[in-house]
This record gives sequence, structure tokens and C-alpha cells, in this order.
Amino acid sequence: MYFTGFRCFECGKLYRPDEDLLLCPACHNLLDATYDYDAIGRDLDRDAIAARPHGVWRWREFMPVLDDAAIVSLGEGDGPMLRCDRIAKAVGVRELWVKSDANNPTGSLKDRSITVSATKAVEFGYKILSCDSTGNKASSVAAYAARAGLDSVVFCPDDTPVPKVTQALYFGARVIRVRGHYSQINAMYRKLIHSGAVKWYDCGTDNPFRYEGKKSYAYEIAQHLGWRAPDRVVHPANGGMSIVKAWKGFGELKRIGWLEGLPKMTGVQAANCAPIAKAVLAGANIVTPVEKGPTIASALAGADPGLLGNRAVASIRESGGTALGVSDAETLEAMQLLASEGLFIEPSGAVAIAGIKRLVAEGKASPDERVVCVVTGSGFKDFDQIASQVRIPEETVGSYEELLAAAQALG
Ligand SMILES: [Zn+2]
Repeated sequence: MYFTGFRCFECGKLYRPDEDLLLCPACHNLLDATYDYDAIGRDLDRDAIAARPHGVWRWREFMPVLDDAAIVSLGEGDGPMLRCDRIAKAVGVRELWVKSDANNPTGSLKDRSITVSATKAVEFGYKILSCDSTGNKASSVAAYAARAGLDSVVFCPDDTPVPKVTQALYFGARVIRVRGHYSQINAMYRKLIHSGAVKWYDCGTDNPFRYEGKKSYAYEIAQHLGWRAPDRVVHPANGGMSIVKAWKGFGELKRIGWLEGLPKMTGVQAANCAPIAKAVLAGANIVTPVEKGPTIASALAGADPGLLGNRAVASIRESGGTALGVSDAETLEAMQLLASEGLFIEPSGAVAIAGIKRLVAEGKASPDERVVCVVTGSGFKDFDQIASQVRIPEETVGSYEELLAAAQALG
């Protein structure tokens, strides 16, 4: 066992690995899992791990789990890493890879982290998983609760895309629809959890176990590129914790001598809701909440990312990366570019492509870079947004003659 406990990002206080924790009990800041990296480096072989069965859990030694029998998995992780030369040409970089999390069991990135929180819920003996969510986390929590034989309760904005709510309900979740935007719901939900009024296992924004699952992006990318870091990893940013944990994952590999180089971490938000980008560009350490405007990227609605956002700013800055907000028009173009390579991605999941295109155009990223863009959710997750972009033909054919005529008309 290599998981040694938690350390508070803010006050540095240490906690035991068997404690059931959310925020730091001393100062209410975020906690970061710690490991015995010397032992990991001594005992493990990167190529042996690479040869294990695919998925997040082949990185078991880097996860904060005490009991392997508790692991709740649906086969998440190890989505495709695709070199996309057409997109590279369109955005103006030498080499571009798409790391797709649309292939995860429930169709989004959330499964990487919820597999860990569901496992901890089983370890700790909880009966109900809960979260607040713009939709993807809700369907993931519902699926992993079902897999574990547990119940789930999820809180979503009342305008959450129908496919995401439907998925959660179909897995048996109790869905509470809340009026307001995501940051308002997040504040109320966290108040409920920290009040002790309910005895649910929180898989939301304060759970330090869950986030460790997100490190697996970094491991998979590093391995795929022959243990050499790309120049840049571009990732959609809502709260920003995926960026924090991917940065941690790359750092871990570097520390134990498995990785050459480190990437610039780059966060992309919706221009109408970009508090992390605003802080990064202003040189601020603390993220100030913004007034959320309309955006088709409904999963990037974190107007007040709070503690998570501050950590994301720190990771981005430490890596030499940057952050930016992209418009709906840029996002729609990015979705089309992904479709040109056969990838069906929801708006929120596609913004990384729009982000790198803008950075190159503005001279803030070099055309010589080797870039990995993470796409985080299937197009089926926000289907109406995509359906509005195409027209199903009204004309039909009913006989071979009509079919032949229609075929010949295509030229
Ligand atoms: Zn603390």
C-alpha cells in the first residue's frame, strides 16, 4: 500500500489514510492525497503497469484505496489517443493528439473520478452516493451507485440537458432539479453536506479521494507518447480540478523517473463564464466569481469555482501554461473539426480544440508544439445542440427506381 494519507493544500496539516474526509477539518481547504513515491519508484515498473488490463485501475498503486475488494469499476479510462492531422492543420500546430473520454462507460470524463469515490463509499460503508452536477457527474454517480448496489441522489440545474438527466434517472437516481445556475446550486449542496443533515457519501466538489482518479489522464498520455510529456495539454475547465490532478499525475511520473519533460497545462472555458481564465490572465492567485452569461457549453457553468479554481490557477501557472475563454461560435467550429475526424463530442467537451486554435492565432502557443487536447464528453450527452446543426432530409424514396434516381443525383 503506497497511499499514505492527506496533506492540506493550505495549512499543511497531515491526515491518516483511513480517515473519512472531505475538506481539511482544521482550515476547510482542499486536501491532497500523499503517497510513498520512493517505494512506488523502487517497487514498480512502468512497462509492467502499461501491460496490465486497460483502465484507471491499472494505476492502482497511485490511487487512495485501502481495500482492492471494494473497487467499483465499469471499465473506465484508457479512451483512445488519436493523432489528428486534419485538426492539427486547421488549428496550426505541428502535431495534435485528441485524448477522448467520450468512450467512458457513461460517456464523459466523470467516470475516471467517480470510480474512485464509489470505491471509497463502499470502503467506508455508505449506502447512498450523492453529488451536485451540471449533468455528467450526476449520470456517472448514478451508474456507479447502481454498479455497487447502492442508491444515489443528485442535484442538477433545472435546465440540465435532457440526455444527462435521463441517464441518471434510468440508473435509478433520485434527481432533485434546482432553480438557479450551477454555482448557486453548488453552494447550497455543499452547505447541506457539511451540515451533517444527511448521511450520504459526497461525490461532489469537496471529495479529495475522487479527484485522484483524474490523474489517470496524465499516466495514459505519458505512456502513449513513449514516456515523453507533450509540450502542452489542453483541457476544458469548469472547476479546474482535472487540470490540477493531471498536473499532479505528470509530476508524480517525473518524480519517480518515469517521464521526460512536463507539459504546459492549459485550461479552456466558455467566454461567458471564464473566472479561471480571468484570474490567470490578470496574474491573480484567487479566482473572483463572475456573472454567468449564456453559453452552449452547459457543463462549463462554474461561475464561482472557489477553492478548486485557486488550485487550478496555481497548477496552470506552475506549468507555464495559460487559460482562456472561447465563444460559442468557436466551440461549434471545434465540434465540426472533431466530426471531420469521426469524433462526436458535446460542446463542453470540444472547447480544447477551440482554445489551441486561438492560442496559435494569437501567437501565445508555438506552431511547433506537440499538443494533446482532451475531449471530455460524447455528443449524445447534449444531443439537441448537435441536432440543431443538421437537417434530416424530408424527401424519402420508396422503390428501386426512386432509389436509383436519388443515387445518380448524388453524382
Ligand atoms: Zn488545512
